[in-house]
Amino acid sequence: MIDFVFYAGVIAILLLASVAARYDLLSEGGIAAALLVGLTIFWFGGWEWFLLLAAFFVIASVFTKFKAKNRLKKIAMQESAKGGVRDFWQVGANGALGALIAVIYHFFPLNTFYFAYVGVIATVTADTLATEIGVLSKRAFFLTTFQKAKSGLSGAVSFKGLAVSLLASVLIGLSALVINAFFNFTAIDNFNLVLIPTVAGFFGALIDSLLGATIQAKFYCKKCRKITERETHKCGIKTVYRTGWKSVNNDTVNLLASISGAVIAALLYHLLKGF
Ligand SMILES: [Zn+2]
Repeated sequence: MIDFVFYAGVIAILLLASVAARYDLLSEGGIAAALLVGLTIFWFGGWEWFLLLAAFFVIASVFTKFKAKNRLKKIAMQESAKGGVRDFWQVGANGALGALIAVIYHFFPLNTFYFAYVGVIATVTADTLATEIGVLSKRAFFLTTFQKAKSGLSGAVSFKGLAVSLLASVLIGLSALVINAFFNFTAIDNFNLVLIPTVAGFFGALIDSLLGATIQAKFYCKKCRKITERETHKCGIKTVYRTGWKSVNNDTVNLLASISGAVIAALLYHLLKGF
């Protein structure tokens, strides 16, 4: 007999997916990827893991819709490969690592893997919020050179974006705290439960910006005379390669940043615990 709890989880996942569809947060491919990721995390990690993913979803959705009609935000989203409606690969790059860690945890139930997962969720949330809010900033700069940058372009950071990525990481920490308190998961120190995602998410998102500024491929549109992340510009013209590694796109950068967030969180957990 598959119990009621299982059905409740599946219904929750379907509900979230339909909200994503209703509010144009995900493309059809994005919804397929989200269902895959959501079911895997619920199946292998259970409610504690799934609810943290749901927390990410709710926080990210609110901020994606925040000032979605703002002119600066619209312009920035057209030049960058991220933000707004997310497709299969964007969701996949963000979610696959979390799902993989859930599978590993199922077979090796160590706190190390739980924190690695929390680190991934914190990083993804921080990066999403920093992108959605950072583009509203008129003063963006490259972390590598401190030169003025177009907000929304990968690698560009702003104080607004940095502040909101810290806020996002704290929110994930607090979510983890509430979820674990509810499930009586007392094996973990409450303070660490908030501190670890706060640090991992903030630095994970920072690494995302660093990689975005350095190795991510950037293209140039001859017609509009603009640097863009898109191989085909919004004007329809094929762009030419400019900087970065040709094979590294925004999804790759997101995945690498998520891995960094996972490693930072797992290491920090062991450092605080004294290994
Ligand atoms: Zn163009």
